[in-house]
Amino acid sequence: MEKDTLYKRLMDDCRFREGLNACINCGTCTAICPAAEFYRYDPRSIANMVQSQDDAVIEELLRSEAIWYCGECMSCVSRCPRKNAPGLIIMALRSLSQDMGYFTESEKGRQQLALKRTVGENILNYGYCIYPRVFHHAMHPESGPVSKWVGEHLDDVHRRLGSNLDGNGPGVLRKIPQAALDELKAIFDVTGGTQRFETIERCSRMKAEEMGIPFEEYSRRTATLNSNNHSVK
Ligand code: SF4
Ligand code: SF4
Repeated sequence: MEKDTLYKRLMDDCRFREGLNACINCGTCTAICPAAEFYRYDPRSIANMVQSQDDAVIEELLRSEAIWYCGECMSCVSRCPRKNAPGLIIMALRSLSQDMGYFTESEKGRQQLALKRTVGENILNYGYCIYPRVFHHAMHPESGPVSKWVGEHLDDVHRRLGSNLDGNGPGVLRKIPQAALDELKAIFDVTGGTQRFETIERCSRMKAEEMGIPFEEYSRRTATLNSNNHSVK
């Protein structure tokens, strides 16, 4: 059976079909894009590259840093004169990069492992993107000294703020019932999220081996290292 082209796989994603009509290369999206102000990022060129339908060009994108800079704010959507949505195109490219394992070829892409192991697993385990009991300052030194102090006095801080951390009943950061977490897991299973998580783990392990470093060290680097080579100078 003939293998699907990368462009065909993008077209199978409804976000891509909705996000790309025909780009006229006007650059309005880049002018409005907040990520383009800070990163070496140009949504106009991404829309132009994918509409080439050239698999070599698309593979280059899937391996690149560029597809990880978008903040998915969707400011570009309402401005595009052709009703394209570069933010949706990016979402489809990211998913395909993860599914193909190309994400490990860029520093920002490799950080998908850290995101999967924090935000992703927090959602499944606790029902929250950020769950304070597993937010360790050592893994997020950029969060600063106040965050460190809050972590060291977590229960006291939440009691004073009036939240319901891990409590039953209503309130901020209340315990999410197991039945609801089971439903979330079922949604991940049927929508391909679980499989994508497994792919991220498997491909990251392969990359660690290729780089000749223990997987735990690789994992730590994805959470803490930044080459600072991403910004517009
Ligand atoms: S605003 Fe729309 S048409 Fe213009 S470059 Fe961006 S995606 Fe293409
Ligand atoms: S969705 Fe992405 S590409 Fe569009 S404006 Fe926001 S950051 Fe830029």
